Amino acid sequence: MTIMDDKHLYSNFEYESALSTGTGATPQNQVSDSYVERMRALRRQEPSVEELVSGIRHGDRTLLSRAITLVESSLYAHQKKAQEVIERCLPLSGKSVRLGITGVPGVGKSTTIEALGKHLTAHGHKVAVLAIDPSSERSRGSILGDKTRMEELSVDPNAFIRPSPSAGSLGGVARKTREIITLCEAAGFDVVIVETVGVGQSEVAAHSMVDFFLLLQLANAGDELQGIKRGIMEMADMISINKCELDPQRAQLAASQYRNALHLFPMPDSGWTVKVTLCSAYTKEGIEELWNTVMEYVTFTKQNGYFYHKRQQQSLRIMTEAIENGLRERFYSAPGIEERIEALKQQILDNRITPYAAADQLLDA
Ligand code: GDP
Repeated sequence: MTIMDDKHLYSNFEYESALSTGTGATPQNQVSDSYVERMRALRRQEPSVEELVSGIRHGDRTLLSRAITLVESSLYAHQKKAQEVIERCLPLSGKSVRLGITGVPGVGKSTTIEALGKHLTAHGHKVAVLAIDPSSERSRGSILGDKTRMEELSVDPNAFIRPSPSAGSLGGVARKTREIITLCEAAGFDVVIVETVGVGQSEVAAHSMVDFFLLLQLANAGDELQGIKRGIMEMADMISINKCELDPQRAQLAASQYRNALHLFPMPDSGWTVKVTLCSAYTKEGIEELWNTVMEYVTFTKQNGYFYHKRQQQSLRIMTEAIENGLRERFYSAPGIEERIEALKQQILDNRITPYAAADQLLDA
């Protein structure tokens, strides 16, 4: 962060006074030392909601990161502050294209995101890359974990890469990711890529927060649809066969197999015909086409209204989910509930009460 960036962060008084000490008897070099010290001290302080919102609006990545850290924190005070920041950022959000990318580990998700991200920043876009990985508690964000991923994109000033929040439960991770999307959009990122690192349910969570869902596949592995669940194929707006440069013929064959398989699926609500293409994150073949397809989809679904309808449905579903999660949390955090559950479990096992009656008793309590 530059000194000028700091200026809007801290009050003018602090800023000017730190500089003005140089006008007295103090030698110049000591002035800059004390200024730097002072700025360091200020930076160690918690920025206020006002400072965070203003920083995010100005695209200040340091403050964006700090706001995200609050979102990810489990401390009540941090959560409360994060909610205020999110609410203030909400009117500035919603203007990005949200793209979900999924596929089995090793298919080339991060390599493709790096290639796509660089293509996008080269064309004037600002790209945020987030991840949903409910297992990230252990690996602390596989997106930037042990192997250095997206090396070039991570130093691109127009890209922002953030590992998955490590919140344990998928519901918690999904909520935090949605909130981080809001913050990134308010900070001016116009493309948000959500990578699913986990397998199974995390695709469903990612799908519930993006406009367009890309499934990456390989030409060879296991041939017949690679054990990818039908449900995940049904969510995809595009299937791309990655690493196509390895065996172009085989990749073509796989693509036509997918096209055939997709014919058996009902027409999606969007009215969009799912595209199957080839790509190579190595040779960059198909990367531009990938983005063009996303844009085609956005134009198509904005014209038929599905784009807005889907976002509205997503928002409404978030509320329902929040109610369900809130009820569950309140129930389990009620004083003495664990003991009562344990006691009733034993009664169920002893055939002294039915499971339904036990549940009713607990809910009433
Ligand atoms: P992820 O686990 O899905 O994120 O996959 P990665 O992006 O980490 O890629 C897994 C491996 O496949 C890495 O060794 C990549 O270098 C390699 N890879 C990715 N894309 C391509 C490609 O287009 N062609 C080839 N030959 N290898 C690729």
